[in-house]
Amino acid sequence: MSIEKKMVTVYIMGEPQQVPEGSTIIMAWEYAGFQLKKGIGCREGFCGACATVYREKGDYKLKGGLACQTVVTDGMSLVQIPFVPSEKPQYDLKNLEPNIDTFKELFPTIFRCVACNTCTKACPQDIKVMDYIQQLKRGDIAAAADTSFDCIRCGLCALRCPADIVQFNAATLAQRLYGKYLALRSPELENRLKEIDDGKFDAEIAELNNMGHDDLVTKYYSRQIKIK
Ligand code: SF4
Ligand code: SF4
Repeated sequence: MSIEKKMVTVYIMGEPQQVPEGSTIIMAWEYAGFQLKKGIGCREGFCGACATVYREKGDYKLKGGLACQTVVTDGMSLVQIPFVPSEKPQYDLKNLEPNIDTFKELFPTIFRCVACNTCTKACPQDIKVMDYIQQLKRGDIAAAADTSFDCIRCGLCALRCPADIVQFNAATLAQRLYGKYLALRSPELENRLKEIDDGKFDAEIAELNNMGHDDLVTKYYSRQIKIK
């Protein structure tokens, strides 16, 4: 007995497409015959490449999400956002100090924040984006680095910000400053770097370089992940 797959209609760039119910947005694009070369990456919610904006049938709200994680609904209208244009100042970390003046100089836009919380609502990672912008405005770089830790640079916050702030680039600087100047030094890290320099892992890396695709996939998914 064959089981009929229920289909739903989604509007991809304005064109109606029939796709299986339960598809993610990426699966819907591909089922409809598109080959995504931009706006797609790991497919597992980690890389931030597949930002998408959509409206659901009967809902006035324009929503954002990751296309690899968001499941289509009947009547949904959607488009990919493969790249969000952003202000990205150039700097040399060695010449910066971890204080509020650095952000005043490199990211003056964060001081225009009107505390509307739109960015937090837009974030598919459930990051308190507005909070880390407020922490940066107070010069609390360690707190901002921690609050923004899970940012995957999808750009959806910046896309919706009425003050034209590029939150994720400011977060990147906070994390870099924290790592270089504020984080406690770890003797374990120093030891591991020395082990790498001494060639302790050379054989293991050479083995990985010589593995085939399937063996690499098996090894990747059988790895142990430590959750903090
Ligand atoms: S903070 Fe912004 S760029 Fe980072 S994951 Fe959230 S929405 Fe995406
Ligand atoms: S969307 Fe922009 S203005 Fe609104 S809270 Fe976030 S950073 Fe501030």
